[in-house]
Amino acid sequence: NRANFVAVHQFGFVEKYPVLDAAVEGATFLLNSPFGPDEVWDKLPRLVQETIIAKKLKFYVLDGYEVGRKTKMGVRINTIMQTAFFALSGVLPRDEAIAQIKKAIQKTYGKRGEAVVAQNFAAVDAALEHLFEVKVPDRVTSTMELEPPVSGNAPEFVQSVTAEMIAGRGDQIPVSKMPVDGTYPTATTQWEKRNIAQDVPVWEPDVCIQCGKCVLVCPHAVIRSKVVPAEALAGAPEGYKTLDAKFRELPNQKYTLQIAVEDCTGCELCVEVCPAKDKSNASRKALNMAPQRPIRESEREKWNFFLGLPEVDRTSEMKFNQVKNVQLLQPLFEFSGACAGCGETPYVKLLTQLFGDRAVIANATGCSSIYGGNLPTTPYAKNKDGRGPAWSNSLFEDAAEFGFGFRLTAIQQRAYAESLLKQMQETVGIDLAEQLLNADQSDETGIDAQRRRVEELKSRLAGKSDPAAKALSKMADSLVHRSVWMIGGDGWAYDIGYGGLDHVLATGLNVNVLVLDTEVYSNTGGQASKSTARGAVAKFAAGGKPRPKKDLGRMAMTYGSIYVAQVAMGASDAQTVKAFLEAEAYEGPSLIIAYSHCIAHGINMAKGMTQQKMAVDSGYWPLYRYNPALVEQGKNPFQLDSKAPTLALKDYIYTETRYRMLTQSDPAAAAELLTLAQEDVQSRWALYEKMAAAV
Ligand code: SF4
Ligand code: SF4
Repeated sequence: NRANFVAVHQFGFVEKYPVLDAAVEGATFLLNSPFGPDEVWDKLPRLVQETIIAKKLKFYVLDGYEVGRKTKMGVRINTIMQTAFFALSGVLPRDEAIAQIKKAIQKTYGKRGEAVVAQNFAAVDAALEHLFEVKVPDRVTSTMELEPPVSGNAPEFVQSVTAEMIAGRGDQIPVSKMPVDGTYPTATTQWEKRNIAQDVPVWEPDVCIQCGKCVLVCPHAVIRSKVVPAEALAGAPEGYKTLDAKFRELPNQKYTLQIAVEDCTGCELCVEVCPAKDKSNASRKALNMAPQRPIRESEREKWNFFLGLPEVDRTSEMKFNQVKNVQLLQPLFEFSGACAGCGETPYVKLLTQLFGDRAVIANATGCSSIYGGNLPTTPYAKNKDGRGPAWSNSLFEDAAEFGFGFRLTAIQQRAYAESLLKQMQETVGIDLAEQLLNADQSDETGIDAQRRRVEELKSRLAGKSDPAAKALSKMADSLVHRSVWMIGGDGWAYDIGYGGLDHVLATGLNVNVLVLDTEVYSNTGGQASKSTARGAVAKFAAGGKPRPKKDLGRMAMTYGSIYVAQVAMGASDAQTVKAFLEAEAYEGPSLIIAYSHCIAHGINMAKGMTQQKMAVDSGYWPLYRYNPALVEQGKNPFQLDSKAPTLALKDYIYTETRYRMLTQSDPAAAAELLTLAQEDVQSRWALYEKMAAAV
């Protein structure tokens, strides 16, 4: 807590946190700033100016993102800021420090190719050229105060606990403020407003075709669409954008798409997938990136207005079975701390759009448990009725067993509620009891009707003092269908938790499993899993994985009673939506294996969905659905949803560093493994084709 050197890598932090509290007198303060040495002073809050003067700090600025742009490093500013640290801190003589950084770059990135090394060297040199000392004035000129950690509209718990953690004062929160039963409030990421994106998407309604693809792929639920009556737009902020909605079931309404720019990570996935281009100017799409700072205030107002607009009626005639319509559903997983451009979270978000108001989720430890339940905030959210996923993480290895327990509990609770209901049917009314016991809850309308019956039941039981009435009132909610999910990565499903997963799938109970398959232990540090494909380089597979990937889906299919789907949103979003709906509807265990691009693949994350498509086009990741329910209809349960490979494997895998690096470090091994990997693709495809052709 006594720092000689303070570096702030996000300008937004100086506007929000007392970042210089720990600086000692005469310390060095390095700020990554979009404002140069002559203008930055006027952009600082009063407290920061005061501290710089009072502590006689040496103040430097560097526009790390500008250097990143110029040297094609994108938003990766670690090398740039590290260079400035060594140049200023005096830890080593400056020239020696720079030489050591370049040596470390060679060692770290050498295997990734000379181009990556050269790019990092250029970033080092440019960082030094863009590093400036700020001439500190002798008096405070700012009247700007630090922004509060959360808005004053946040609930009491967020104000008194979450905000304190966000402000870095978590260790001063009294234990008495913590929930005593181990539950923790959800829907709190909405208050964080990290403002980390330099550039954000801006919507051009005149070009938009209302496909919803941008909304689907956004890893952070930042970009959203609604269709609303024109009257709902009364009082809209100036410049609020809409256009006539093109939804058959919602005639004469307005379509609106809004971006929460303060929650955006600037990943560009939405812009990349947007298919609509201005016919008179092909470089102008329906979404284009623009600097965030100038539009922050106005977009904040528009976002708040958007949130107040009515949500689509889930029980209307509209069918939520295609991307365009599904993307009108409110996501109940938002603004998580996952990596910018994450390939996993769009699937989690989709799950919550479809089933979130009744989902109970058991999460294996890994990336999805970190971004899913990390303090200080929780991304799982609630709708206006207060319904949203109930979520918990136990261990890495036991998510399947943990979720299995959720289903067993739901069965027991429901059975108890039903027995009480039968016992009390004369008191609550025979008609109502029968409707509750025999309700069809296979769709949104059925579930909504059951919820209304449960409310009616509770009101008829209100005030009754006998123990059975009290118990039934308490158990009544368990008469509504619960959607039980287990979520985890390939490290869990293929390796560490496989025994439990297999056991749970074999029980035949109605549970759903979502495997977010990045083909590597991502959060743990990039170790090979049994999902890693042949030829990929990972920890414990430094010479390229010598053996092929385990076919988890096919293993599950051998039971004949498990719904299995392999999906890749970037290749077919329609097939992904179909698989999620079928999996949940199947009255038995379901397994969805979802291809998830990842920073561990060494790709440009903005192109993540394109990588997914290439994986499918090359036959590396075939899309299929295996639905045992089709057997009863005399049909083949296995449906191959992707076409025969049209892309050579090398044309896909060598666009990813995890494969390409072996061609640098061991070209002979790379060539040999490529041949074998291409054979893997062909033999698997031939087998799947046979399975799909069987009658
Ligand atoms: S840039 Fe990324 S985070 Fe921002 S709206 Fe687009 S997809 Fe979402
Ligand atoms: S992806 Fe493009 S065309 Fe489709 S809804 Fe989004 S902005 Fe409109």
